[in-house]
Amino acid sequence: MSTEVLRFAPSPTGGFHVGNARTALYNYLYARHYGATLKLRVEDTDRDRNTDAALDTILDGLAWMGIEYDGEPVFQSKNEPAHREAVDQLLTSGAAYRCYADAQELEEIRKQAQKDKRGARFPAATPKEVEQHVANGVNPVVYFRIPPGETTWNDRIRGGSQWDNDVIGDFVIQRSDGTPTYNLAVAVDDHNMGVTFVLRGADHISNTPKQIMLCRALGWDVPQYGHSTLLLGSDGGKLGKRHGATTVTEYREQGYLSSALFNFLALLGWAPGDGREVFSPDELVESFKAEGLLKKDAIFDEAKLLWLNGEHIRTMTGEALLPMAATAWVASGLLEERELESRKPELLRIVAMMQPRVERLSDFEHARYFFVEPDHFDEKALKKHWKTDTPDRLAQYVERLRALDEFDEGVVEGATRTLAGELGLSASKLIHPTRLALCGVSFGPGLFELMEVMGKDTCLRRLDRALAVLPTEQHVS
Ligand code: GLU
Repeated sequence: MSTEVLRFAPSPTGGFHVGNARTALYNYLYARHYGATLKLRVEDTDRDRNTDAALDTILDGLAWMGIEYDGEPVFQSKNEPAHREAVDQLLTSGAAYRCYADAQELEEIRKQAQKDKRGARFPAATPKEVEQHVANGVNPVVYFRIPPGETTWNDRIRGGSQWDNDVIGDFVIQRSDGTPTYNLAVAVDDHNMGVTFVLRGADHISNTPKQIMLCRALGWDVPQYGHSTLLLGSDGGKLGKRHGATTVTEYREQGYLSSALFNFLALLGWAPGDGREVFSPDELVESFKAEGLLKKDAIFDEAKLLWLNGEHIRTMTGEALLPMAATAWVASGLLEERELESRKPELLRIVAMMQPRVERLSDFEHARYFFVEPDHFDEKALKKHWKTDTPDRLAQYVERLRALDEFDEGVVEGATRTLAGELGLSASKLIHPTRLALCGVSFGPGLFELMEVMGKDTCLRRLDRALAVLPTEQHVS
C-alpha cells in the first residue's frame, strides 16, 4: 500500500469527453497498480454551467467503465469557506492584493504588458481605498501577486519543467462576488484532500506554475504533477465534435464494450513497452507503469477502437455476451425481454455463431434473420446468385430437405452435398441461393449450422416463399 493520493477532478458541465475519461483512467490505473488512493472531486463551482445531468453522465460513465474511486465524491462548491480562508491568509501575508481597477484600466494594463512581453501587474488598492469601497458596498477582485524568479517542477511525464514567473500575469483568485477561481480552488482542495500526485491532461500545464506558487505562498507541500498528452483527431487537430463521437456515452450507445474503450484509451498516451495491444482491465492494472506514460500527442484512431472492440467481444463467454446481444435484439424489436430465459439455448447458439463476425454489440442486429423473415432480398446478391436455373434446383433441394427426419447440421450438409453431386454441381450453387432465401443477404455464419438453429419448418417455409416471390427470368446465368 502506498501513501500517495491522486484525484480525478471533472467539471460537470457537458458530456463525459473521452479525453477526460482517459485522465480518469490513468489516475485509476496508477492508483490500483501502486496501491495509492484515488479520490473524486466534482468541480462544481461554475454555477451557470453545472448541471445534475452532467454529473450523472460522468458518474454513470465511470461506473460503466469500471473506474472506481475511494470514498465519497468531494464537491468543490462545499469547500468555499476553505477557499476564502486561503485568500484571507494570502492577503494577510501580502501574497495577494485587492484591486478596484475598472475594466478599461485593466485592459490597458494588459495590452501594455503584452507589448512588453511580460505578465500584467495590477494596481493594489490601499487600505483607505478598500475602506471607502467597502463602505459603498463594492467588493474588490483579489489578485495573486506573482513573485519574482521562476517556477520549476519535475513533471512525472515530461521531465524538468520551468516557467519564468515574469511572463505570468497576476491572476484573480477571488471574484468581486466572493467566489474563488479555478486555480485557487484546485490548489486549496488538492492540499486539503492530501493529494500528492496530480495526473491530468496537457491542457492544464499552464495552470501548474500558478498552483505551485499558491501552495508555496500558503506554506504547503507542493504535490507532484504529471501531464499526459493531448488527444488529437485523425486530421491532427484537437479532438472535437467535428471528428464524430467524443463522449463515453456515445461510444456506449454505439455498441462498444467498456473493456474495449478502457483498453483503447489506455493505449492513447501509455505504452506497455512490449508491443502488446489487447488487454483486459485487470491486465492493464497489472502491466501499468508510470514510466510508460508518453509525452507524444496521441491520435484517436476510430478504426483501432473498432478492431479492439471486436477482439474484446471474442474473448467473452457466450453467457456474458448474451445479455449484451439481447439488448441489441430487444432494442430493434426482434426479441422480447421475457423470451430471454425460455429461448436461452437457441440464443446462445446464435451468439456463438455471430461472435467471430461482429465488431460492435449493435452488429448483433445483423442476425435479425434468426428472428424474422427477411423483408427484402439484397439486389446485388440476387444478381449474383439467383440465376434462371436456380428455382428448379432449389425446388429439388426443398424436396430433399422436406424428406429429412433429422435436421441437424451434419444431416443437412450431407443432403446438400449429395444432391449437388447428383446434379453435377458445386455445392455452392445450392448454398448461396439458399442463404439468400433464408436470410435475405449473402453473408453470415456457416449455412448448415444456421439451418439447424432456424429449424426445418422455418427453412422450408422461407425457401417456399422465396421460390414463390423471387423473379425467375431476369438474372440469366
Ligand atoms: N476540472 C478540471 C477539468 O475538468 C480539471 C482540474 C484539474 O485536474 O486540475 O478540466
